[in-house]
Amino acid sequence: MWIIDGHCDVLLKLWNSPDQHDFYEEDSALDVSYYGLCSTNSFMQNFAVFVPPRIPVGQRFLAAAQQIDIFYQKVLQDQSKMTLITNREELDDLRVTREKDDHTRIGAILSLEGADALQGEIAYLRLFHRLGVRSMGLTWNYANEVGDGIQEIRNGGITRFGHQVLGEMKKLKMICDVSHLSIRSFWDVMEHTDLVVMASHSNTRALCPHVRNLEDDQIRTLIQKDGMIGVTFVPYFVYQPANESNISHVIRHIEHICELGGADNIMFGSDFDGIEEKVTGLETTKQYSQFIHMLLQYYPSDLVEKWAWKSSYVFYSKAFS
Ligand SMILES: [Zn+2]
Repeated sequence: MWIIDGHCDVLLKLWNSPDQHDFYEEDSALDVSYYGLCSTNSFMQNFAVFVPPRIPVGQRFLAAAQQIDIFYQKVLQDQSKMTLITNREELDDLRVTREKDDHTRIGAILSLEGADALQGEIAYLRLFHRLGVRSMGLTWNYANEVGDGIQEIRNGGITRFGHQVLGEMKKLKMICDVSHLSIRSFWDVMEHTDLVVMASHSNTRALCPHVRNLEDDQIRTLIQKDGMIGVTFVPYFVYQPANESNISHVIRHIEHICELGGADNIMFGSDFDGIEEKVTGLETTKQYSQFIHMLLQYYPSDLVEKWAWKSSYVFYSKAFS
């Protein structure tokens, strides 16, 4: 079964320690590597650009630009293996190639985790779009020029500049990723019509009371807006105590989203290479095969196929057309 994954931080690792990692190395220590993706029959992987909060405000655009350069140099280095997906035609072409039983070509979507890299400049958003960025999370955990993240205790919403950014994202047909947003920012975003929304790596708060997880009314609203929810493998968002989290706990989050009416809105957003601790049995992208195998023991294959790639394929396809 093909896999589409909505979030990983491999670019951050390659940027932090360029000499330690090789994306194309067969026994790479990365959670997400080309051979790892191949071994698990990956169809497409979303690569996030993340600028850590320690980077001074004036240098955040540069840090993001450096990570995008790494994406082109080190991930898209062999374009017969990794193909950048920026529009519907490219997505359809990839599917045609894969259907010819060529499982060595994998799609790559580029995204920005946090609008901090814009440094308050709408021009930078358009430049990122030209460089291939097709989805953007507005904040990480803290406040930036666009709005507040979930760890800001004041729970502020979207700023005036943030609304301008959202307007421009609509024009550019960029996907708005709501993972990490404060509760108020989330609802401010939901007031926008015609905006394509997803939560690329968040679980359900009803099952695991972490602030990064989504409340039921947030999940229902994402479903109403045809948005996607990327069930994530971050132990702290899966189960508490985190060190006891396992695959069956991940499945419970899927089950809960289904109960809320979201069986067609589920995808996966592993957060691989962005996490030190792992869910037992879901340590790297290679374990996707076992995970799918386990899902097939509980659910019909057409449903598992939707979660694994089909629903997100349809979502990306609509977003890009
Ligand atoms: Zn994140």
